[in-house]
Amino acid sequence: ASHTRFSWHPGAMATPSDRRPLAELVEELLTTDGPLPIVAASDPVLRQGIEHYDGHLDAALFSRFVEALRITMHTAPGVGLAAPQVGVPLRIAVIEDPAPVPEEVRLARGRVPQPFRVLVNPSYEAVGTERAAFFEGCLSVPGWQAVVARPTAVRLTCEDELGRPVDEVFTGWPARIVQHETDHLDGLLYLDRAELRSLSSNEAMAERWAQPTPERAAASLGFELP
Ligand code: ZN
Repeated sequence: ASHTRFSWHPGAMATPSDRRPLAELVEELLTTDGPLPIVAASDPVLRQGIEHYDGHLDAALFSRFVEALRITMHTAPGVGLAAPQVGVPLRIAVIEDPAPVPEEVRLARGRVPQPFRVLVNPSYEAVGTERAAFFEGCLSVPGWQAVVARPTAVRLTCEDELGRPVDEVFTGWPARIVQHETDHLDGLLYLDRAELRSLSSNEAMAERWAQPTPERAAASLGFELP
């Protein structure tokens, strides 16, 4: 069987009938070319029932799905995309950030380029106690941004697209992306962790809070930064 090419829990494989529904859902999504529709907050798929990836998709379908996630992320455009955001409740996400930002922003936010990565069954834990707060947005909450305080460094454990184990520390903006996408796979949206007093439309962001850090927003809107 094609799933023998994967190492995900080879000793605990579900029966083919258990696997079929999600594979069929993905097949159906991929019948049209181009970017996939992104589901918005209020869709239950973003909140519960997201399954540990256990070789649900055969190698060819997995590759096609990851490519569709990549195209959808690029088209949006975004710097990360989790499978539930296209309606697929599996613990799979992609990240990539070319970081086309001014030097001032790069330094303030640690926004360095992040090459394309596939995260399968990711989880993270904070490294140290330092936290940083910045405006953040989500493709599933279009039009809005809010400040989220997060650990500045995290240890990510997951598998890559070939099922190889990954255990790596991320810092700066890539650490934020990893946390945001992994949170999606735990049924969390950034708004669950956000300082809601900072909630701003994209238009207001451009008009008022285009600074590299949210210090002015914090002073003007009345919330604390770490
Ligand atoms: Zn998101």
